[in-house]
Amino acid sequence: MSDLESFRRETRAWLETNCPSEMRTPAQSENDTCWGGRKWKFKSEAQRLWLERMAAKGWTVPEWPRECGGGGLSRDEAKILRQEMRALGCRSPLDSFGIWMLGPALLKYGSEEQKREYLPKIARGEIRWCQGYSEPGSGSDLASLQTRAEDKGDHYVVNGSKIWTSYADQADWIFCLVRTDPAAPKHEGISFILFDMESAGVSTKPITLISGASPFCQTFFDDVLVPKANLIGKLNKGWEIAKYLLTHERDMIGGMGQTSENRSLGQIAAESVGVENGVLADSMLRAQIAAFEIDAWAFRLAMERAGDQAKVGQAHPAVSSLLKYYGTELNKRRLELVMAAGGASALEWDGERSHNGATARAWLRSKANSIEGGTSEVQLNIIAKRILGLPDA
Ligand SMILES: Cc1cc2nc3c(=O)[nH]c(=O)nc-3n(C[C@H](O)[C@H](O)[C@H](O)COP(=O)(O)OP(=O)(O)OC[C@H]3O[C@@H](n4cnc5c(N)ncnc54)[C@H](O)[C@@H]3O)c2cc1C
Repeated sequence: MSDLESFRRETRAWLETNCPSEMRTPAQSENDTCWGGRKWKFKSEAQRLWLERMAAKGWTVPEWPRECGGGGLSRDEAKILRQEMRALGCRSPLDSFGIWMLGPALLKYGSEEQKREYLPKIARGEIRWCQGYSEPGSGSDLASLQTRAEDKGDHYVVNGSKIWTSYADQADWIFCLVRTDPAAPKHEGISFILFDMESAGVSTKPITLISGASPFCQTFFDDVLVPKANLIGKLNKGWEIAKYLLTHERDMIGGMGQTSENRSLGQIAAESVGVENGVLADSMLRAQIAAFEIDAWAFRLAMERAGDQAKVGQAHPAVSSLLKYYGTELNKRRLELVMAAGGASALEWDGERSHNGATARAWLRSKANSIEGGTSEVQLNIIAKRILGLPDA
């Protein structure tokens, strides 16, 4: 038996023994997801156990080095772990901006001391992070950001405001872009810093979304003191880190096009429109679902290929824009079909049967996928210029 085959067998056996049965049922809503952090209250003992066991094995971040709290797995082993988790229906033990965004940036740009300080805490879900990039006047044109960090000897003083800061009111720490040299060209005077959201002078004001949830805030900084040790990389060179982190954010958001939903769209539709002669009774919906499934498979293969190219250092630097664009448009299409397939009951907004309108709320939430992490229009600009080599309009 090859090493990978025996790894698969051991992994399956470990998951069967260690993943609590409650963590093998599909998450009904965002509330079933574990985000960790100082303020986190576990939804059940099973959720706590699952995180604890996976973190102890380093499998919340399977490919990170062991000394950083990871599992030290190769890409192929990590892929097997994902496949086996999917096969058993295991939920993610921990969802985290620390894992998806900050961690990769720290691995590349952090000092050894910063890696030792932050990465194991991210892997164990002890600190919940938020992202301080966008500002009221700076979204797509992010490099125009105005939040200032002034040098005061051994610390910076930060003043300004961020907007659309996801989970700012629940996060413990923020990774934040600040202007440290106002006289320099806009991309060259930006630095990347970290600070505690409980620092004096930090406040948040929640913003409500169309889905009824309030997942993000406007965040205010009023004379916030940040130790210089919290600067990541070099002073005024934060734009490079910001862009690198964005490629990971875009990969993560693009991955939403790959659903972990156990039931296929066909099964959901069959329950509401019925089956005739072994096929879905509604022929129009049948054709739309078939077209979607083909595109979703092609996208899954494109993700695989991009991953393989990255492994051998051949990935195009702008490929994350391509995956982000297609993955999010695909996810929006999937939720349109979930709504069409679910019939009238998919529109339910309250009540136990619909898990408090989980489907309708997820559908509305998906509208933001092609905005967050950089809009679809901006991704298309990047693809046009950097992948297709088209000239500026
Ligand atoms: C659900 C959600 C969560 C978010 N979470 C965070 C977060 O945690 N942290 C954070 O920092 N930010 C977050 N954001 C903000 C997000 O990154 C910005 O909304 C996004 O970058 C767009 O910026 P904007 O909203 O200012 O829109 P604008 O930049 O004002 O764009 C408005 C419209 O103009 C178009 N447009 C702009 N420039 C161009 C161009 N050059 N060519 C063609 N079209 C263009 C855009 O596509 C868009 O349709 C979040 C956003 C959402 C929706």
